[in-house]
Amino acid sequence: MSDIATNLQVVRQRIADAARAAGRPPEAVRLLAVSKTWPAGRVAEAAAAGQRAFGENYVQEGVDKIAALGRDDLEWHFIGPLQSNKTRPVAEHFAWVHSLDRFKVAQRLAAQRPAGRPPLQVCVQVNVSGEASKSGCAAAEAPALCRQVAALPGLRLRGLMAIPAPVDGFAEQRQAFARLRRLYDDLRRDGLDVDTLSMGMSHDLEAAVAEGATLVRIGTAIFGERNYP
Ligand SMILES: *Cc1c(COP(=O)(O)O)cnc(C)c1O
Repeated sequence: MSDIATNLQVVRQRIADAARAAGRPPEAVRLLAVSKTWPAGRVAEAAAAGQRAFGENYVQEGVDKIAALGRDDLEWHFIGPLQSNKTRPVAEHFAWVHSLDRFKVAQRLAAQRPAGRPPLQVCVQVNVSGEASKSGCAAAEAPALCRQVAALPGLRLRGLMAIPAPVDGFAEQRQAFARLRRLYDDLRRDGLDVDTLSMGMSHDLEAAVAEGATLVRIGTAIFGERNYP
């Protein structure tokens, strides 16, 4: 087995163990393999090991990999910061966007989604740690933004995403995820049809699953340490 196939097995087991510990069925948590900085050949190895959903942070790099590997069998998720002048290739090539944090970007994605493609599946990114420099809308703004996004044609609101500030300790990690979870529960209580809580990365997936993550975004634990160019 390749390293990537072995790593995928380990990650899937971590997810299953975390889900069982939380009294949740393992299949309630989807695995998104974050392939940013890794060449298409690495993605192909993961695909050969049964992984279908891949996350990319940089528009051109993602579009190049989609061109190389296709989108018939693979599902491509855009998870990086998205500037409003870069929305078109994302609307044209990706299936999902997790990092939506402004209505202007949502409007552009909606207008640019090609007719005949399924709606772009979107999550609103929330800044749950409150750091000025991080992307994501403020928690207080999230419900109104979600409602606006849900009304746009060409987009389908699926839920919320967050990248909390890195902290050590299971209890500390759970706190930020719990904040996103409460926002998500509020949306559902208010009648929004959302089913996705995108939270948890290589170092904190157990805490995210304990707090109800339905999708974890895992890079390093699958592909290894990244070297940024
Ligand atoms: C890079 C990245 C990940 C994966 O992080 P790892 O620590 O490598 O698992 C997940 N989500 C987002 C938004 C990222 O940018």
